[in-house]
Amino acid sequence: MKRLVLLFLAFALLAAAGCRPKTTRYQAEFLGLFDTATTVIGYAESKEEFTALAQKVRERLTKYHQLYDIYHDYEGLNNLKTINDHAGVAPVKVAPEIIALLLFAREQYFTTGGALNIAFGPVLKIWHDYRSRGIDDPQTAKVPPRQLLEEAARHTALEGMIIDEAASTVYLPEPGMRLDVGAVAKGYAVERVARLLEAEGVTSLLLSVGGNIRALGGKPDRTGVKPWKIGIRNPDPESPVSELCTVRIEGLSVVSSGSYERYYTVDGKRYHHIIDPITLMPAAYFTNVTVICRDSGLADALSTALFNLPLEKGKELVAGIGGVEVLWVTAGGEVIPSEGFGAYLEEKNW
Ligand code: ADP
Ligand code: MG
Repeated sequence: MKRLVLLFLAFALLAAAGCRPKTTRYQAEFLGLFDTATTVIGYAESKEEFTALAQKVRERLTKYHQLYDIYHDYEGLNNLKTINDHAGVAPVKVAPEIIALLLFAREQYFTTGGALNIAFGPVLKIWHDYRSRGIDDPQTAKVPPRQLLEEAARHTALEGMIIDEAASTVYLPEPGMRLDVGAVAKGYAVERVARLLEAEGVTSLLLSVGGNIRALGGKPDRTGVKPWKIGIRNPDPESPVSELCTVRIEGLSVVSSGSYERYYTVDGKRYHHIIDPITLMPAAYFTNVTVICRDSGLADALSTALFNLPLEKGKELVAGIGGVEVLWVTAGGEVIPSEGFGAYLEEKNW
């Protein structure tokens, strides 16, 4: 009898595996969102099915991109640029997606002790302009004058931003204020899109916006579900190993901040794009900080904040949040994983 039951079970399992529709891996890539490349990877029964899903992702991300843009105007839309343009002039009525991002970013400003500050725009704009000019014309590349940075830093207190939730307005009361959400908007937008897809029943997909990765579930396999494998880039350009390690994740985010992503060179020295709010210079502690946790908005905010914090302070911050694992690569090349990071490691090259 026992043998019969086992035989029946084996047949049932085989039948279940046989019934699972055969899916194929598809990939879509598009440019123009958040100043970077977006990749969507998924398994579907047909190309049409996947393309329709990828198109939905693109449309939703485009909406967030336009709302969170600080460089461009869009006809009939109040976005972050509108808020910046009205600094010291008047409150601006905005969509709830903007209010939600700003409330989230303000919370992160307080929990990170100011290491992540979306009101750091005046200082970041100076670095942005010097970097753009330095990339266009390397011969004349310059570091911003100290005095200019210090003057701009006087208008960076996020405490000043006035959010009226009932009226859905945002007001920057000083003319010199300017929001820059480059450190959080991508991850926050990806999380919102991922949550909506999850609510709609999507159980497997991989979203990457400029390496800001969010997995929905795992990837389907003949025998069930397997984790996605994500490579973490080696920040050392001289190393023959391009990936520091590979991690396995299901339903989680992996977000890195690196000194090699955007930079320019002055007199042979590199100046990258994450600016330490204390020194007003490119943060010098690390070359890469990678965060793994569920929420991609939190992962994005933390990767930038941790990049600006000394290791011990960063460890304290992470311990206080919970559910967050980190891999730090110091400026000296030392690789330091947080206590539970090893559980995600698939391959380790350090
Ligand atoms: P990336 O956008 O390259 O993936 P990050 O998430 O670390 O990397 O964000 C870097 C961006 O964040 C910068 O380009 C700038 O717009 C912004 N930024 C830089 N320094 C800070 C800071 N101290 N606080 C808030 N935002 C910052
Ligand atoms: Mg970030």
